[in-house]
Amino acid sequence: MTLGAEETPPAYDLPSGYDHIYSGKVRELYRSPEGRLLFVATDRISAYDWILETPIPDKGRILTQLSLWWFDQFADIVPNHVLSTRVPDAVAGRALLCQELDMMPVECVVRGFLAGSGYADYVRARSICGNGLPPGLREGDRLPKPLFTPATKAPQGEHDENITYDEVIVLIGQNEAQDLKRLSLAVYARAAEIAEERGLIVADTKFEFGLATSGRHRGQMVLADEVLTPDSSRYWPLDGWAPGGAQPSFDKQYVRDWLTSADSGWDRDSGETPPPLPDEIVAKTRAKYVEAYERLTGERFA
Ligand code: ATP
Ligand code: MG
Repeated sequence: MTLGAEETPPAYDLPSGYDHIYSGKVRELYRSPEGRLLFVATDRISAYDWILETPIPDKGRILTQLSLWWFDQFADIVPNHVLSTRVPDAVAGRALLCQELDMMPVECVVRGFLAGSGYADYVRARSICGNGLPPGLREGDRLPKPLFTPATKAPQGEHDENITYDEVIVLIGQNEAQDLKRLSLAVYARAAEIAEERGLIVADTKFEFGLATSGRHRGQMVLADEVLTPDSSRYWPLDGWAPGGAQPSFDKQYVRDWLTSADSGWDRDSGETPPPLPDEIVAKTRAKYVEAYERLTGERFA
C-alpha cells in the first residue's frame, strides 16, 4: 500500500551515528548516538490508506510544532516523550529528540462526537468498544460524554480494529489499562476545552503511550508519538458543525474531494496508485494545516 516509504526513506543528511530504525506512514525514526529517538515528521500525506507521492510543503514542521505546543498544555497531566528540540540541521523544526519507550500495543482513541468507525459501530450495535449509547444519535452528534474507544495497532496497510476495554486489560494488564484510559480521557478533556475556545471541535483523537524503562519517568506511562495534530485527530470548525451527516474533514477534504472527483481520473476501488496532486490542491491543503496551527496556538506559523 505504501509508495516505497520503506524502500526509500528520505535522504536526510544526518551526522554520522544516527541509525535509521523505522519508516512509518509519515515519520522516519532514527536512534541518535546517545541512544535517543530522533522522531522526524516528513511532509508525506496519506489519504484513503495510500501515502500520496506528492508531499505537502511544511506539513512535517507544522505537525511537530503543534505536537510540541500541545505537550506543554498537558504537562501537569502526564509526562511526555520529548527530551530536546535541538536536532541536526537537516531536520530542523520537523524533528524532536525523544525518549524511546516500551510502546503499548493500543491506539488510545477518545471520541467526543460520533464519526468514522465509531458511528459505524453505533449504527450496527448501538455501542462503541463496549460502551452502550442511547438511541437516536445522528452522525456528527456530540456524545453524552467522551468515550475511551481503544483499537489494536494494525500492521502497516491494515486497518486498526476497535476493541473493548476488557481486551485492553488482557493485552497489557489491569493497571496499565487503567492508566491509558484515565490519561487519555484527561488529556482529551483539556484539549477539547482549549480547541472549542478557539472555534474548533475535536471530534476524536488518537494517543499513543509507552512505559519509560529508564530516566526520570522510569516505571511511568508516558505520552508519546504526535498529539492532537490534524493527522491524529478529527477537527471540525465549530461554526460549520451540522450533525446529521458526515462533517467535512478539516485538513484532507481538498485532497479527498479531488481524488474522488472525475478530474483525478482515479478509481478508489481499482487498487491503483493515486495520481500526483495538482499544485492548487497542495496549496489549499498546506493552508489548512497552517490554519490549524495558527488557530490553536494563536501564533503565526513561520
Ligand atoms: P499510524 O498511522 O498509526 O500513525 P505509523 O506507524 O505509520 O502509524 P508514524 O507516525 O509514521 O505512524 O510513525 C511513528 C511511529 O513511532 C509509530 O509506530 C509509533 O508507535 C512510534 N513511536 C512514537 N513515539 C515513540 C517512542 N517514544 N518510542 C518508541 N516508538 C515511538
Ligand atoms: Mg503515527
